[in-house]
Amino acid sequence: MVLSKTSSQSDVSVHSTFASRYVRNSLPRFRMPENSIPKEAAYQIINDELMLDGNPRLNLASFVTTWMEPECDKLIMAAINKNYVDMDEYPVTTELQNRCVNMIAHLFNAPLGESEAAVGVGTVGSSEAIMLAGLAFKRKWQNKRKAEGKPYDKPNIVTGANVQVCWEKFARYFEVELKEVKLRDGYYVMDPEKAVELVDENTICVAAILGSTLNGEFEDVKRLNELLEKKNAETGWDTPIHVDAASGGFIAPFLYPELEWDFRLPLVKSINVSGHKYGLVYAGIGWVIWRSKEDLPEELIFHINYLGADQPTFTLNFSKGSSQVIAQYYQLIRLGFEGYQNIMENCQENAMVLKEGLEKTGRFNIVSKDNGVPLVAFSLKDRSLHDEFEVSEYLRRFGWIVPAYTMPADAQHVTVLRVVIREDFSRTLAERLVLDIQKVLHELDALPSKLMAAAEGKKPAANHLWHPHNGFANMTDIEKQREVTEVWKSFVRERKTNRVC
Ligand SMILES: *Cc1c(COP(=O)(O)O)cnc(C)c1O
Repeated sequence: MVLSKTSSQSDVSVHSTFASRYVRNSLPRFRMPENSIPKEAAYQIINDELMLDGNPRLNLASFVTTWMEPECDKLIMAAINKNYVDMDEYPVTTELQNRCVNMIAHLFNAPLGESEAAVGVGTVGSSEAIMLAGLAFKRKWQNKRKAEGKPYDKPNIVTGANVQVCWEKFARYFEVELKEVKLRDGYYVMDPEKAVELVDENTICVAAILGSTLNGEFEDVKRLNELLEKKNAETGWDTPIHVDAASGGFIAPFLYPELEWDFRLPLVKSINVSGHKYGLVYAGIGWVIWRSKEDLPEELIFHINYLGADQPTFTLNFSKGSSQVIAQYYQLIRLGFEGYQNIMENCQENAMVLKEGLEKTGRFNIVSKDNGVPLVAFSLKDRSLHDEFEVSEYLRRFGWIVPAYTMPADAQHVTVLRVVIREDFSRTLAERLVLDIQKVLHELDALPSKLMAAAEGKKPAANHLWHPHNGFANMTDIEKQREVTEVWKSFVRERKTNRVC
C-alpha cells in the first residue's frame, strides 16, 4: 500500500482522471455529495454516463432539430448567459424576437396593415404556445358569455382524437373539456364534418392540426372553416379556429403555398408553430401568432414596470434563455424563403426514397400521406408472427430509434412505426435504414413465433404461453425468452399510445 500512499499524497491535478479516486469511487446518486470534486473528473463522469443515451441524430422518433450550422452554434453559446426576460438590458434580443414574430406572421398571411406590428410571442415550444392560445380563447368566450348573462363554467374544445398530448394537458390544467372526434380505419385525422357536429355554445374553439403527429397528415382547415362559418351563421355563435401547426407551419408555406390553412381563412384566429421542429432550431422554442389585437384579450397581458420601462408579457414563464430566439432569427435570415424551401423539398424527397424502399420489401402498408409533414408511417401487412414493436426493438440494435405505437380511438387496432425525416437525415442514411429494416425482417422471420408454436399443437393459441402455475415448463429457451418479452411488452404497450413527440 506504499504505492497508493505516495500517489494520494502527490498533487491531485497531475493524476490521470481515470485513475483518480473521484472516478474510482462511486458518487452518491440521490444526495448531494459532501465534498467538491475537480472539474475534469466531474466532466468525465457525466460525459461517460451520457454516452449511454441514444444518438440524437439517429433518433427518428422526434421532429425536433438535432443539427445546426457551426456559426449558429457559436451564436447560441455566446448568448447562453443572457436571460431573455431582461428586455431592458438586452433590447437587441427583444428586437430579434419581434422580427421573428413579424416574419412568421407574414409567412402565415396575417392580415396586417402596412406598418402594423404582428401580435405574437416566442415560447418554450408549441406546448406553451397552445396553453396561451387556449387561454385567450377561453377568456374571450367567458367575456362574451358574461356580457350575455349566460353561464360560462363549462367551456370545451373540439379536436380530433389524434391531438398531441399538450392539448390534453391544456384541458386538464385549465379546466376545459376536450371533445374528441374519433378516428376510423384508414382515416387518422379529424373529420371536419364530425368536428362541426360536436360544436355547441360552450365551444371556445375548434383546434385543427396541420401535420398530425401520428401520420403527418394535414387536416382540412379550409373545409372546417367553411362548415363552421355556416354553423355560426345558423346559430349566431362565433366559434373560432386554432391551427396547431407545430410541425406543418414551416412545411406548408414552402411546399404547398397554395394550400389555404392559415390566416387567409377568416375563422383562424391563432396559430402555433414549433421553432424547434421544422423551424430548424434546437429544442426550446415555439411561437404563437394571433390574427389581430382583438383576438388576444388585453387583460391577459401583463405590463410590468421593469427597471423603469413598460414591458408587456404574455407567457407562462418569467426567466428563460435567449439563445433559441437568436438561433431562430439566424435561420430565418440565413436561409430565407429559398433556403427553407430547399430543405423542405429535400426532406420530402428523402421521405419518398424511404417510402419506396419500404414498399419494395412488400411487407408494409404505408399509413402516411405524400403531401404532409415529411415522415413515413407504416405498419406490417402481416402481423401474425411478429409485430411493429418487435421491428422497433430490433432496429435499436443498429442504433436506429424508430418508435412503434398504437393509434387512438377508434383506430386502436392499428399499430404503426414512424420515421420523421429531418434536415440532417441524408439520402445515405435513408438508404441505409431501408437495408437495416430488411435485415431486421430476415432476423425476425428466422425466429420462432408464439403463434407458430401454437400451430404445432404444443401450446394453446390464446394469450400467453406463460402459465401462472406451470411457468415456462416445456418451453425451449428461445420460446421462454420471447414470452418474457411479450409479457413485459404487454405492460408497456398500454402506455405507448400517443406518446410520441
Ligand atoms: C410537437 C407537437 C406539439 C408539441 O410541441 P412542442 O413544441 O414539443 O411543445 C403539439 N402539437 C403537435 C401537432 C406537435 O406535433
